[in-house]
Amino acid sequence: MRENLINLAYLVAAVLFILGIKGMTHPRTAVRGNRLGAVGMLIAVVAALLDLHVVRYEWIIAGVVLGAGIGALMANRVQMTDMPQMVALLNGFGGIASTLVAGAALLETLAVAVSPPLQFTIATAASGLIGAVTFWGSLVAFGKLQGLVGDIRITGAQMLNAALLALTTAFGVWLVIDPSATWAYWALVVTASILGLSLVFPIGGADMPVVISLLNSYSGLAAAATGFVLNNNALIITGSLVGASGIILTNIMCKAMNRSLTNVLFGIWVPSEEAVTGDEVYAGKVKAAHADELALLLEGARRVVIVPGYGMAVSQAQHAVRDLVLMLEERGVEVEFAIHPVAGRMPGHMNVLLAEADIPYEQMKEMDEINPTFEQTDVAIVIGANDVVNPMARTNPSSPIAGMPILNVDKARSVIVIKRSLSPGFAGVPNPLFAADNTLMLFADAKKGALDLMNALKAA
Ligand code: NDP
Repeated sequence: MRENLINLAYLVAAVLFILGIKGMTHPRTAVRGNRLGAVGMLIAVVAALLDLHVVRYEWIIAGVVLGAGIGALMANRVQMTDMPQMVALLNGFGGIASTLVAGAALLETLAVAVSPPLQFTIATAASGLIGAVTFWGSLVAFGKLQGLVGDIRITGAQMLNAALLALTTAFGVWLVIDPSATWAYWALVVTASILGLSLVFPIGGADMPVVISLLNSYSGLAAAATGFVLNNNALIITGSLVGASGIILTNIMCKAMNRSLTNVLFGIWVPSEEAVTGDEVYAGKVKAAHADELALLLEGARRVVIVPGYGMAVSQAQHAVRDLVLMLEERGVEVEFAIHPVAGRMPGHMNVLLAEADIPYEQMKEMDEINPTFEQTDVAIVIGANDVVNPMARTNPSSPIAGMPILNVDKARSVIVIKRSLSPGFAGVPNPLFAADNTLMLFADAKKGALDLMNALKAA
């Protein structure tokens, strides 16, 4: 009876997780989706505490209080632009938790002299391997995004990784053959840890968000393996969900950047020999404008498309942008937002910021929907975006961003670009859009630029 109730609770939790993920596919239902997931997790945790024959609750309660306190503090403090680092850390914690729990389960099983079944030892080895790779790989990813670690080239990295994987697998096989050899488990954890470091150290900082998404998937797989160690259905289901959704997200990001996963993991992203320099692209062609002149341009517009990018997030300009949009709409201008799938530093970054400023979801258009409309657009306003509007992706096959699908803002009648300088974006390449005949640059911080435009429009 008790076991049935616990399994029923796990089932309810799993259904809530799936509904939660479904909810997160649209900004309007995302908050509800998140809550459903949280309720599911609460049910799963309570059921697990009843299920796993806990003998003493003090440590668990202390852990919950401490963990919840640290989690709440981190969630409140972290800036939107630092979210990828936070996700990296959380993935890492998931990985190390799986490794430690599997190790503890092995010691516990051996202490009562039970000869563990094959499923148990295989799952323990898998958990140790994937969890340790995830933990150390995530720490490196965190360090890179935080600017604490640079790109470290390891000569013969692929040979080293293959050797480490072979050694780790050998320890795993040893453990399966002789489960009493706990040293084999810890040796496996050590070699897998070195593998995690050597896998992620050489990957360029520019590719870190994709790597984090992949490590997220690994943390799910490690949890699923630990679910098999503990015979815990909730952990198996949750781990599989995280594993699958992480790999789907990785794939979406790779596609939006026109890169293959192998290229991200094993290729170094450096500008090619014949890379064009900023001087070649910009010399004598860039036209800077004042907000007053640009307001005149906007006054005569019927349709305006706003393209937000990473700079809008940095300057927290979303509320100023909303006010500018309201001002334009008061004047009868039709305004839409063009959202590139990798604008900013994580998928959905722009949608979240704009939703925070109460911009209706209907006004945010995805790339494929908005691209055909640029030719009928009077003014495109690019706010803190760069790579996602770089026409070189279409025209220069030797560019590092060649083939990346972009927003075709250059096809609009006029383009206003608000950014502080001619500095490149994430990919580090110059952008011919800034030197185009139909482009005017408003050199300013995104928030100040949007406010200046609005005030100039008010005064016009
Ligand atoms: P970019 O990184 O290409 O460019 C951002 C621009 O914002 C910079 O050129 C910078 O210019 C400007 N900027 C910075 N701070 C401010 C500020 N305070 N006010 C105004 N402008 C500012 O951003 P995009 O959004 O166009 O492109 C995203 C990039 O990130 C792509 O290359 C994408 O591949 C990559 N990426 C995105 C991921 C995702 O999931 N979203 C994942 C992995 C990578 P200046 O200094 O002159 O102001």
